[in-house]
Amino acid sequence: MSSVLMLLFAGILARCACSAGDSRLLLVSFDGFRADYLETYKLPHLQEFIEDGVLVKQVMNSFITKTFPNHYTIVTGLYEESHGIVANDMYDADAQKTFSQFNDSDPFWWDEAVPIWATNQQQGKGASAAAMWPGTDVKINDTTPQFFMKYNFSVKFEERVEKVVAWLNSSNPVVTFAVLYWEEPDASGHKYGPDDTQNMRTVLEEVDKRIGFLMSKLKASGLWDTINIIITSDHGMASCSEKKLIILDECIGRNNYTLIDKTPVAAVLPRQNKEDVYNLLKNCNSHMKAYLKEEIPDRFHYSHNKRIQPIILVADEGWTIVQNESLSKLGDHGYDNALPSMHPFLAARGPAFRRGYTHSSINNVDIYPMMCHILGLTPQPHNGTLGNTKCLLADQWCINLPEAIGIVIGAFVILSTFTCIIVISKNRVVPPRPFARLQLQSDDDEPLIG
Ligand SMILES: [Zn+2]
Repeated sequence: MSSVLMLLFAGILARCACSAGDSRLLLVSFDGFRADYLETYKLPHLQEFIEDGVLVKQVMNSFITKTFPNHYTIVTGLYEESHGIVANDMYDADAQKTFSQFNDSDPFWWDEAVPIWATNQQQGKGASAAAMWPGTDVKINDTTPQFFMKYNFSVKFEERVEKVVAWLNSSNPVVTFAVLYWEEPDASGHKYGPDDTQNMRTVLEEVDKRIGFLMSKLKASGLWDTINIIITSDHGMASCSEKKLIILDECIGRNNYTLIDKTPVAAVLPRQNKEDVYNLLKNCNSHMKAYLKEEIPDRFHYSHNKRIQPIILVADEGWTIVQNESLSKLGDHGYDNALPSMHPFLAARGPAFRRGYTHSSINNVDIYPMMCHILGLTPQPHNGTLGNTKCLLADQWCINLPEAIGIVIGAFVILSTFTCIIVISKNRVVPPRPFARLQLQSDDDEPLIG
């Protein structure tokens, strides 16, 4: 019983200690940081960051496991079919518009959702700031972050950090939410493949030094003890090879279809009869699945949007869909989001987070409600669950399964004991009192019981 009370008391105390709503948050993404890089490589700065905060070993990201879709999922809490950024390359048949990583600034594509930087400003909690996060230089629903940089991959990480820290330090207006993006280790993962440990070690050590630089800048500016920081990523990386090509030209003529998005999830817009195109593609290669849009498995949450094309091809892990071209990379992502190789990690520290705690898994749609909670924002409709991140948060009562079972058994034992005591005491037969002879003494006025 005492352990139950102590846990309850600790929960209440923790809740009182944190005042969600006046805190600040910096969200950082290192593109393509696969979850197991943390175990494979020595990353002392990141380890130091984690020791004082929380680590989620695997983040279940959203299908398709590509950069733009998953970065927009993190900041909206929506599956791709709901936020509308369903691929890095898209075509909208009604509007006759195309979207690519190099042609991404039309708000049309982004307006199906409201990202957290806009909500933060709309609800008056403070200004938002952004360094290169996808979508932050677009006027989404007529709003950009109050401070942002136009996307330019040649701007150094250090320069991005200097800007973000300066914005976070400005007092008028107070910046309560900021995002920061860096292109590595994704670029090198594509180039060398994730299994090239020699080259990937060099890249990961550089990423770790950059995390160290960010930490030192936040410490020097006096923000370190008060700001909440999340470091995460959009997806992992799988090795691919010239020997694992799925060649569409061997199965279907190019005049039958338009290839809107390529590999490893290809979006196919048929020019001829849809069923005919589908029948040619579905038996094309045993390492590729073809789905009619209406047959896409529910677990992908990837069908209810007109930007998802009528036929989707999904390659098996490590396989590449091409028309006939050669392969110029050794790593890729975009595959089934159930594959561990596609999962990133999440680490976080600051007053809102528990310290020294490791959690096995969350979904990336859960990050949004957690961030809204930390910032004291009323979230937009989303697909995440705040309860999935409760164990990461200092102001939430979190209990794991073994503890829960222990408490239930303990409570049961205590209740049973009490019940037994009550039943026994009620049924107890009062033994007859020993007979005592009444003796009257001559000098007594009243009889005495001996
Ligand atoms: Zn990416």
